[in-house]
Amino acid sequence: MPQPGAGEVLIQVHACGVCRTDLHILDGELACPKLPLVPGHEIVGTVAATGPGVERLSVGDRVGVPWLGWTCGTCIYCSSGRENLCERARFTGYQIDGGYAEYTTANERYCFAIPATFTDVEAAPLLCAGLIGYRALRLAGDAPRLGLYGFGAAAHIAIQVARHRGQQVFAFTKPGDDAGQEFARGLGAIWAGNSDALPPEPLDAALIFAPIGALVPLALAAMAKGGTVVCAGIHMSDIPSFPYRILWEERVVRSVANLTRSDGDEFLSIASRIPIRTTTTQFSLIDANQALAALRAGRVEGAAVLVP
Ligand SMILES: [Zn+2]
Ligand SMILES: [Zn+2]
Repeated sequence: MPQPGAGEVLIQVHACGVCRTDLHILDGELACPKLPLVPGHEIVGTVAATGPGVERLSVGDRVGVPWLGWTCGTCIYCSSGRENLCERARFTGYQIDGGYAEYTTANERYCFAIPATFTDVEAAPLLCAGLIGYRALRLAGDAPRLGLYGFGAAAHIAIQVARHRGQQVFAFTKPGDDAGQEFARGLGAIWAGNSDALPPEPLDAALIFAPIGALVPLALAAMAKGGTVVCAGIHMSDIPSFPYRILWEERVVRSVANLTRSDGDEFLSIASRIPIRTTTTQFSLIDANQALAALRAGRVEGAAVLVP
C-alpha cells in the first residue's frame, strides 16, 4: 500500500487505460524509466486518503490521473504556459508509479475531476488517448479535411471531437485492416482506407497516431498546400528521407508532446458536452500482460482498460 506524501492523495484505482506508451516503456524505447515501475497513466479512481497539505481534494472524490504527474512551475516553459515541456517534468507510469495497481498515489494538483456523465471505464481512455488527441487536433489548426493515421484508442476519440467541430475525417489503417476501417466508418469517417493509399482528395491536416515513421512522407504527400502533419506519439521509428517537393508550399511537420492541465480541463468539459462515447475492451488487472499483447498485435477495438 503506497503512502501519500506531502500534497499527494492515495487513490483506490477503479480503472486504468492501457496506452501504447506503456509498450514503448516496456520495450526500453524510452530512456530512464523509474525501476521497478508500476505502469499506467490513464487512471480513474477515488481518493482513499490525503497526505499532509492536501487542500483541493477530499476522501471519496472521483479523480483522473494523466501522464503529466508533476512540473516545476518555475522553468521557462512552465512560466510561459507550456508546462507540457517542463525541464523537470515527471510523468505518471514512467517516473512515478502509475495505475496498474489497486492503489496508487498522485499529486493533487495534477488530478482532474471526471465529469459524472462517464463511468470509470469509459473515462479512463480520455486521460491520455483523448487528451493527447485533443492537443494534436488543436495544434493541427482549423482543418476542414482531416486525416487520422492509425485508428486505435486516440483516433476513435479524436474523430468524435473533429466531427463535433464540423471537420470531415479520412481514416487510414494498417493495409488490409478491414475491421479497423469499418470501425472508423461507423464513427463517421467519410473515407477509410490503407495507410499507403492516397485519400480521394487532398487533406488540410493529418494526425499520426501509429508509431511508424514511414507514415510521415505518406501523410505529407496527402496534404493540400499549407497542410500540417502532426506526429502525436512519444516514440516513432525513423522517418525515411523524402523529396523536398512534398514539404514545399508551406506544408508543416510537427510533433505534440505531453499535455498541460488546461488541455485536460478543456478537453474533459468538451468530452462530456459532445458527449464522447469511448469503445473499450476490459481486462482484469491480473491480465495486464494479455492487454499489452493484444494492443501490440492490434487486436483491441478502441481502448484496452484494466479493472482491478
Ligand atoms: Zn518547469
Ligand atoms: Zn498514453
